[in-house]
Amino acid sequence: MLDMLTELVTRESFTSEKQHVDRLVDYVESQLHTHGAGSVERYPQADVGDFLLARWNEDAAGKPFLFLVHLDTAHPIGSLATMPIRIEEGRFYGPGALDMKAGLVIALEAIRALHDGDQLPGHPLHMLLTTDEEIGSSGSEALIRERAAECALTLVMEPASKEGAIKTWRKGGAKYSLTVDGRASHAGTAPQEGINAIIELARQALEINGLNDLKYGTSVSVTRVEGGTAGNVIPARAQAHIDTRALTMEAMEHVHAALTGLYPKMPGAEVRCVRIAQRPPMERRPDLFEKAAAIGESHGITLYEAGSGGGSDGNFTAAMGIPTLDGLGAHGDGAHALHEHVIIDSLPRGAALIAAILLEW
Ligand SMILES: [Zn+2]
Repeated sequence: MLDMLTELVTRESFTSEKQHVDRLVDYVESQLHTHGAGSVERYPQADVGDFLLARWNEDAAGKPFLFLVHLDTAHPIGSLATMPIRIEEGRFYGPGALDMKAGLVIALEAIRALHDGDQLPGHPLHMLLTTDEEIGSSGSEALIRERAAECALTLVMEPASKEGAIKTWRKGGAKYSLTVDGRASHAGTAPQEGINAIIELARQALEINGLNDLKYGTSVSVTRVEGGTAGNVIPARAQAHIDTRALTMEAMEHVHAALTGLYPKMPGAEVRCVRIAQRPPMERRPDLFEKAAAIGESHGITLYEAGSGGGSDGNFTAAMGIPTLDGLGAHGDGAHALHEHVIIDSLPRGAALIAAILLEW
């Protein structure tokens, strides 16, 4: 497993560097065949690395189990020079090792062992490998949804929490653009004839900030503002970017209604708030965790659960109502950071857990 992880990490795969990512995709494509995949489909992409869909056990009668893997990382090409691969005190260090190349290693090892032992479960196994997760999955979302729609279970190979817990909930999020229109005028000779869009926006920002409900996991943050044209002109336009996060769809809809219902405070001003992107929350489903934990327990593996304010591709499948287990990848720390590393012991443990889930779910 460490040899394969080394091969994967050596092929750097920063999302925006298609040529580099495709070199990794080529390698993974050959490995999927080596690991017994019955078919591997390649979906060419123009701006990011190509996507892959591998299938095992297509003749099995059950609904497929779907693995979600992303091959891209948040580390620019050349990061290997400053954070070279090294093994120290039971940890494997390297860019993208934890998020989530080790997750691919774990899934493939579980499948290989079942395949070689002629023990594949009564379900087809599908693995979708995408390359744009770190920038929001806008190019792969439709394919993820399409593949998940027919599945009995989605297994997301993102890293576990720092303490080794799988992820049973993730916040959803939406981004909004707020545009305020006023009226320009000369700041010296006719300030009274202007409608100051920046002042209107400032008042809106305070109201928007009041939508925060951190105790219940809802955050609403004005994250960027711009406005005005020149130092002596009452500004006619100002704009803001708003980042929102919430635990439930209900809370997201509440925030959405408030933001799209904003009305101007100053006579003559106009206010428009529109949603520009959305990822639904992965709401906690106790039944799924209990089922996975029971399977783990019967093999001597104790599972813990945790959540995250950040999203994954599991948000899409969970919101479709497809049973989704997330954070099944390696344990470790420092995703996206210089000290990114994998706890080596968690690799065989993870593979054993995946194999057990595939057989007993
Ligand atoms: Zn990831």
